[in-house]
Amino acid sequence: MTLPATCLGFPRIGVARELKKSLERYWSGATTAVDLEIVATDLRRRHWLAMKEAGMDEVPTNDFALYDHVLDAAVMLGVVPSRFRDIEDPTTRYFAMARGYQDPALGVDVRAMEMTKWFDTNYHYIVPEIAADQVFTLDAAKILRDVDEARATGVKPRPVILGPVSFLLLSKAAAESTGAPEPITVLGSVLPLYQQLFAMLAKHGVEWVQLDEPCLVTDLDNRSREAYERAFAGLTKCSPRPLIMLTTYFGSLNENLSLATRSGCDALHVDLVRAPEQLGEALSALPPAMSLSTGLVSGRDIWRTDLDRAHAMCRRAVTVLGTDRVRVATSCSMLHVPVDVEAETKLDVEVKSWLSFAAQKLGEIRALADAATEVVPSGRAFDEARAILSSRRASPRTHDKSVRDRVASVTQSMLTRSAPFAERAAAQHARFGLPQFPTTTIGSFPQTSEIRAARAAWRAHHITDADYETFLKQETARCIAAQETLDLDVLVHGEFERNDMVEHFGERLAGFAFTKNGWVQSYGSRCVKPPIIFGDVMRPRPMTVDWATYAQSLTTRPVKGMLTGPLTILQWSFVRDDQPRSETCVQIALALRDELADLERAGISVIQVDEPAIREGLPLRRKDWAGYLRWAVDAFRLTTSVVMNDTQIHTHMCYSEFGEILGAIIELDADVLSIESSRSNMELLSDFARVGYPNEIGPGVYDIHSPRVPSTDEIFGRLEMASNVLSSKQLWVNPDCGLKTREWSEVNSSLKAMVAAAKRARAQLGAR
Ligand code: GLN
Ligand code: ZN
Repeated sequence: MTLPATCLGFPRIGVARELKKSLERYWSGATTAVDLEIVATDLRRRHWLAMKEAGMDEVPTNDFALYDHVLDAAVMLGVVPSRFRDIEDPTTRYFAMARGYQDPALGVDVRAMEMTKWFDTNYHYIVPEIAADQVFTLDAAKILRDVDEARATGVKPRPVILGPVSFLLLSKAAAESTGAPEPITVLGSVLPLYQQLFAMLAKHGVEWVQLDEPCLVTDLDNRSREAYERAFAGLTKCSPRPLIMLTTYFGSLNENLSLATRSGCDALHVDLVRAPEQLGEALSALPPAMSLSTGLVSGRDIWRTDLDRAHAMCRRAVTVLGTDRVRVATSCSMLHVPVDVEAETKLDVEVKSWLSFAAQKLGEIRALADAATEVVPSGRAFDEARAILSSRRASPRTHDKSVRDRVASVTQSMLTRSAPFAERAAAQHARFGLPQFPTTTIGSFPQTSEIRAARAAWRAHHITDADYETFLKQETARCIAAQETLDLDVLVHGEFERNDMVEHFGERLAGFAFTKNGWVQSYGSRCVKPPIIFGDVMRPRPMTVDWATYAQSLTTRPVKGMLTGPLTILQWSFVRDDQPRSETCVQIALALRDELADLERAGISVIQVDEPAIREGLPLRRKDWAGYLRWAVDAFRLTTSVVMNDTQIHTHMCYSEFGEILGAIIELDADVLSIESSRSNMELLSDFARVGYPNEIGPGVYDIHSPRVPSTDEIFGRLEMASNVLSSKQLWVNPDCGLKTREWSEVNSSLKAMVAAAKRARAQLGAR
């Protein structure tokens, strides 16, 4: 007896990043929309065929998007902000919404829609904007096209549709439209379109739709709960309609379970990877007319599934519900994992055997669905999974006794600097003698095409290690000289030897592996290749001391040692699933702690530990926040508390909402915090003032993501604003983030204006 098997969505980008390449060719003007569509059609077809071959009984359609599925949902509902309405060509308009649109000849300059993180993943979606006079109109063309295309490949399509409540909860009121409603209040105008769509799909012979409502695993206020009740009543009553599989993922339904089980939908999908504990409750709450889709294979991580563990859950469901009412699926869409392990030809064979990417996950789902009624499943898939899992568990590469012993011996005193901030600050001021409003930058300087070319040549063994090093030294020296000319106070080495702030450290630590093709979509055409943390993390030798001491040898001004913090390394990697994340984080923190000690010993007096991703690790549910923040803060403090009082610790954070975690940021107890704030025009600072931020702080004074060069007046104005709410004794002057994406000419002009503004501030604002 077998169960129906399916997945909730497939990676779009292609095993060789075909979509990325095709998009970028199209955007550059080298190809046409037709060329792009040929590539996209081929990708969809290929992925459906892969699912068919792997024995999926039903395949997701409409999960593919040229840029983003939330943007697609907005287009489906006619939610096109007015600034784009004059763009006639639909493809041009679609990408204009995603990326902005400039046509200097016509004097057109339309700003892109906002982008933000998709729940707690590293995928970013486009935030729909609902205007005051919003008119909703249904455009189902793409959904119907996908259904037809899928059928033509011989598979049974199940359109994936972002549900109305999640759609509205993920939207925002259009900023430029006065009186724009809170999105959730317009549910009544959106529902009829979903009903029309469902009727259309039913007529088109679609049996099941996948109604994605991931917001059901978040904390909901009463208004959102009522919205859900109303939406489900409206959607399930319309006739004709397809059967509805209500999909939830990324966490537990918890108190929202009854909303889902009383929804009247025909199946409920629950994420049993992130929240296995919800199975029991779901089984008892499920009404007789509803079947259960069990999300047993992770769409979020890259580890082979423990098939026996998953099988036990599946069997439990079958025992209660019978074989007719259970299906097997991925926990969520596989958007968040790479396509195929088989594309990794250079990966360490042992580590490779532990991995499962999208293509392999399909096989795991099929095996689970086929074994659902067996008491002790047999067969190749299970035997192999057992053998590999036990070899992974036993592998000396995942357990290093010295690392374990060290983690066990961490004490509370290792988490605290030897003196409170005031005393440290006095020692640091005496040591450095910096002026008020000291100036610095965040770390990286332009990664020019020359630098990238040299790195590529070195990686391909076209130039020797020595030649590459000489080249990097020249660049570093030039960067130090440029900063002295600009008269910056605390310098950086420029990070020319780094391509990526996490990969650079992962490559120098034990316990990490790197793929060649393990790309996942971050947004649009942008992909990232997260390192894989498979084993105990250890630092075999110093990682940054040579570059730091070389840079420091070139100047008498302090040069910051530059490290990526433990939380950011964790957050931007695929992390082992056989121990709590917090434990892996402590291992990383200990490795970095040794690096700080070595830097200090080598004479580096200022050390920055970047934590741009600290906010991203925050759990979806508020009740889980305190637990995360506790170990997150402790990991940072374990990393940094090793240094002496007169060694100055900086940290840097950017591009997140920090307002809600200010308490934790204070607890980090960094001597200096540089933080993005120019895009919100320093709004964040009043929050810092309100909570009485005690240490020193450098609110970014200009946005480095734009080529625009700020004026001295503008930067001075921001410093004035900052010194109105915080003491000028606390303030540092720095850009928002690293400068690696900018040109040298922009950097020179911007920093010149910044230093001039700081000097004016010293003269005019110093006493505040
Ligand atoms: N030090 C890093 C840089 O300047 C920080 C990058 C980041 O915040 N994302 O590039
Ligand atoms: Zn940054």
